[in-house]
Amino acid sequence: MDIIWVLIYFLFEYPFFAFIFFAAIIGLYLLLKGYKCDKCGTRTSEVQSTRYQDTTPTKKDGSRDKRYNLTGITWKTIKCKNEKCDNTWETV
Ligand SMILES: [Zn+2]
Repeated sequence: MDIIWVLIYFLFEYPFFAFIFFAAIIGLYLLLKGYKCDKCGTRTSEVQSTRYQDTTPTKKDGSRDKRYNLTGITWKTIKCKNEKCDNTWETV
């Protein structure tokens, strides 16, 4: 638990730098969260719907090949929150 005391010490000894440090982390989080629209650049964090795509290799007849583990991609449908743009796109 030493790291906690180091953080508390840091917070009291250098409150200004601690504030900048936390503000930077929160700023970075707000900057990177959500999905960027290709058309207008607006970031939208709400996922409208998800779709699972099975990418497990199958046999020639289309049946499941037991040698492979189940793999797949979850596609997220994002609707741009910019009302003027109204763009909808899919992302992983
Ligand atoms: Zn948009």
